Amino acid sequence: MSNLQVLKEFLSSPKNIVVTTHHKPDADALGSSLALAEFLAKKNHQVKVISPSDYPAFLEWMHGNEGVIIFEGNNQKLSEQLIADADIIFCLDFNSLDRINQMGELVAKSKAIKVVIDHHLEPEKFADFEFLSLKAAATAELTYNLIRDMDEEHLIDENIANCLYAGIMTDTGGFKHPSTSKEVHLITAKLIELGADVTLVAKLIYDNNTLDRLKFLGFALSERLTVLEQYKTAYFAISAADLKRFNSQTGDTEGLVNYALSIKGVVMAAVIIDRVVTVKLSFRSIGNFSVNDLAREHFQGGGHKNAAGGKSSLSFEETVSKFTTLLSSYQEQLNNTLIVSTP
Ligand code: 5GP
Ligand code: MN
Repeated sequence: MSNLQVLKEFLSSPKNIVVTTHHKPDADALGSSLALAEFLAKKNHQVKVISPSDYPAFLEWMHGNEGVIIFEGNNQKLSEQLIADADIIFCLDFNSLDRINQMGELVAKSKAIKVVIDHHLEPEKFADFEFLSLKAAATAELTYNLIRDMDEEHLIDENIANCLYAGIMTDTGGFKHPSTSKEVHLITAKLIELGADVTLVAKLIYDNNTLDRLKFLGFALSERLTVLEQYKTAYFAISAADLKRFNSQTGDTEGLVNYALSIKGVVMAAVIIDRVVTVKLSFRSIGNFSVNDLAREHFQGGGHKNAAGGKSSLSFEETVSKFTTLLSSYQEQLNNTLIVSTP
């Protein structure tokens, strides 16, 4: 029997299910989790979505948002119980347990069957069932495929379709990244047929700014952006004081890195942010330059070839200096990158 058939069989009677996703979930992480949870609830399972941390306010419109348990928000005990009692734990949009912080240990020691649905590079083996595709544009694409391949597409309603569409729209950068395959467009068309409202979802995600966020963007663009032409690299370095000054909320820095990447001639972009407990880095690239490799090698991170993240336990200033210093070892690669990329 294939993994899919075994899973389908297992799900043929009501189960206690936990769906979880990575720290600081984005639209793909949360959208695919809420879509899968709603689908499973329709199949009469008891389902809880646990997020390791909070997430941007522009995702709160998603159906099922009010039921999400935020682990970091005084819900450790409840989460621990749910994870321990679960028959099955779905892990969406991440491929190593360190992406869910302290929850990783709880998931590892739970006797539940673990299922991972993901599209990131270099997966760690921690689950019983894996639905992985490194070519998939989004975990939402894989979640849609899973539901379809279980012959349950008829259960996708407008709420599920909107969540899945949000994941695909954002992880493809608005249908621009090389991952935007013909399959992506066919799935998107299907989601529209099933009720996804593309105008509404785009509005809710992209045009939902606070004035503080826009002012922060203006400040970051004029005061915190450095272009290193010799390395075809541009980066923002954002201090903790900058975040405080603009009353920065979770999600306010999302997308900032793309402004650096949009500069003519830039091959790699980074955002380095002092989150006080840790320094967080976000990377983007074009063409064959792999920010996954860079994040993995130097910043305890990973992701995709052209979009990755990581962290540093050095001070903020030391991290910025580490980043700019290591660029010389990539100078040749950065200057010889082909713009046309394979996903
Ligand atoms: P972002 O820059 O938008 O936070 O993340 C870009 C991509 O890198 C996403 O696919 C995200 O899941 C991944 N990513 C971000 N931060 C980390 C990290 O600390 N570790 C790993 N392994 N992946 C990360
Ligand atoms: Mn994703």
